[in-house]
Amino acid sequence: RAKAIGPGQFNFFTQELNKEMQRRRKLKIELSQALKHNQLQMHYQPQVDTASNTLTGFEALIRWPHEKEGFIPPSEFIPIAEQNGMISEIGYWTLQTACQEAANWPENHTIAVNLSPIMFNDGDLVERIKDTLAKTGLDPRRLEIEITENVLLDDSNHISSQLVTIRNLGIGIAMDDFGTGYSSLSYLTRIPFTKIKIDQSFIRGLDDGKNIDSIIHAIVGIGDSLDVSIIAEGVESTDQLLRLNAAGCYIIQGYLFGKPSSKPALDLDPISRIAKQPVHKELRSK
Ligand code: C2E
Ligand code: MG
Ligand code: MG
Ligand code: MG
Repeated sequence: RAKAIGPGQFNFFTQELNKEMQRRRKLKIELSQALKHNQLQMHYQPQVDTASNTLTGFEALIRWPHEKEGFIPPSEFIPIAEQNGMISEIGYWTLQTACQEAANWPENHTIAVNLSPIMFNDGDLVERIKDTLAKTGLDPRRLEIEITENVLLDDSNHISSQLVTIRNLGIGIAMDDFGTGYSSLSYLTRIPFTKIKIDQSFIRGLDDGKNIDSIIHAIVGIGDSLDVSIIAEGVESTDQLLRLNAAGCYIIQGYLFGKPSSKPALDLDPISRIAKQPVHKELRSK
């Protein structure tokens, strides 16, 4: 292989690989410092029900403001934390911070927290979630954990039984990035999900003229028959919103209703966010 692409290019390739490895090593050290000095932040993005025009809650999304580079995206530093034994500490900080924050909100608002699959290997995940709820006083019915379907590929750590225990506490369980993983749909009956999050790529696909509307309609059908609510992620335009509504999906998260922010907009009036758009009347008359 190295020969086929030429020795010069092989050299270039190894150099790039080296740079990448050095960057990861540097970020790993800086991330552990940031954690130690409490420099990580939580941001909160609204989730709304467009059928009733209500704010239902927020998803907690972690932010790392880096001294020199600005915000480093979680898609870059979460994998580094997962590979270096730091994800559980970050995960429990996230859980604690988000539950503490939500305990001060109106009681009908939920908080969704992303959990890394690694945390299911810790052995004390359920106990630590219970502790967090006890310390913050948050009603378990207002907490929702988000997992991706890749969590379920390997159940050697009894992930499904931990999820059943978590659900039995009253906590909601959301399937994140639905439709992008490699697992079979049978897990939907094994795991007590309360919500399915349609991945952003489907919402992007709506704009590409692909026949995504029928896929969304089918996902809504699965949700109806399993009594699981369906939310669309990454919704940015009123056109996307109308097509989601037409396919039966009314719960929405995306820039259209608000970006993740350190100060959650508890008084958000969903319709007013799009009031100036031409579709305003159509939505009102629904
Ligand atoms: P996710 O859980 O699927 O989160 C949704 C991502 O989509 C967030 O990116 C959010 O900022 C972004 N987003 C929301 N609405 C829109 C929109 O309308 N348009 C576009 N273009 N993007 C939108 P973010 O915050 O960069 O997070 C990326 C991923 O990192 C998350 O995907 C989640 O898997 C992971 N992550 C974030 N926070 C945490 C955390 O506290 N713990 C763990 N384990 N993972 C986290
Ligand atoms: Mg999520
Ligand atoms: Mg997602
Ligand atoms: Mg994701």
